[in-house]
Amino acid sequence: MSVQTENADVGPAAPAVDGDAIGLRTRLAVRGVRVDAPVRRRGGAGPSDDGHLVIGGANATLPLNPASPYVLRDGEVWLGDQPVGLHVTTVARPRFYDLTTADGVPYEQIARLHGADVLATTVVQTCIRYAEADRCRFCTIEESLRDGSTIAAKTPAQLAEVAAAAVRLDGIRQMVMTTGTTAGPDRGARVLARSVRAVLDAVPGLPIQVQCEPPAPADLGAITLLREAGAVAIGIHVESLDDEVRRRWMPGKASVPMAQYEAAWDEAVRVFGRNRVSTYLLVGLGEDPDELVAGAGRLVERGVYPFVVPFRPMAGTLAKRDGAVAPSAELLADVSGRVAELLRRAGMFGADQQAGCAACGACGVLQAAGA
Ligand code: SF4
Repeated sequence: MSVQTENADVGPAAPAVDGDAIGLRTRLAVRGVRVDAPVRRRGGAGPSDDGHLVIGGANATLPLNPASPYVLRDGEVWLGDQPVGLHVTTVARPRFYDLTTADGVPYEQIARLHGADVLATTVVQTCIRYAEADRCRFCTIEESLRDGSTIAAKTPAQLAEVAAAAVRLDGIRQMVMTTGTTAGPDRGARVLARSVRAVLDAVPGLPIQVQCEPPAPADLGAITLLREAGAVAIGIHVESLDDEVRRRWMPGKASVPMAQYEAAWDEAVRVFGRNRVSTYLLVGLGEDPDELVAGAGRLVERGVYPFVVPFRPMAGTLAKRDGAVAPSAELLADVSGRVAELLRRAGMFGADQQAGCAACGACGVLQAAGA
């Protein structure tokens, strides 16, 4: 099943990573655990929800699954009556969740804790692609708005206030700002840039990653605005490199040609630097695994970190309604292991991005696989 990609001979191979540990981590990522995690993400933008845990010192989001064979007890993961050798803690509810802005909005509705030390916000909680015919089938961005757990648009002042409190009270070390896709050609980049500036005025030096769709070709300069505002990394998320999969799973986003993603990634690497740009690749959408790994190899060559994560059938998504299921742990382990090797050989490590999903790593297993 292994694929020889063009960059497979770049640099020396990093030390081998414990395959059993990756296998276990992937089984947990797919099957989840039985535990009552105080910090959890229930839907929202993008493809992940779940409970926030720390496994062996690293952030991990795992499905909270009452039917999982794995249970968290006494700081260990157990399978039946045997501990599996993983030390796990749940992330405590952060203190900033108890605060409210001067205009009466709970901080928790403005930004959320991800893992133990990541502050995450969806600056614009609506998306031009949310009509049922266009919506990404794994996404629930507007459901969390409907259920009242967030607000539609966060102002720069609100974000600055919450970020300052989260750093002061809870030791936040990085921030992720995403947005639903907006109608303008910048796809939300200017709103993100204003937000980054405001947060950095309040918390100088906080590493911030921004995430948006590729700006229109005539507005690629918006990427420079994000860097000039002070963001250290950017995610431009395609989710799949297979056009047929894109049309099936992300009909709205699939209207953006792959060439536009490539132009945006290249411009982002020029502006932010190599391995400061990332994209999600979802395992479990039906894409051929060898093609997925080969495509990830081409991204690595571009300087883009392919953040491989399992598709998760979240409540409230069209995919869940239609009966889609998570990929097998074996498939996730196979793809993650091969992509991690490509990243290690290229010297691209998620942690080097300083902020963002690749730096956090919780939603995938690439960091457990050494990348
Ligand atoms: S990988 Fe991204 S979405 Fe997942 S917990 Fe970390 S910051 Fe949040």
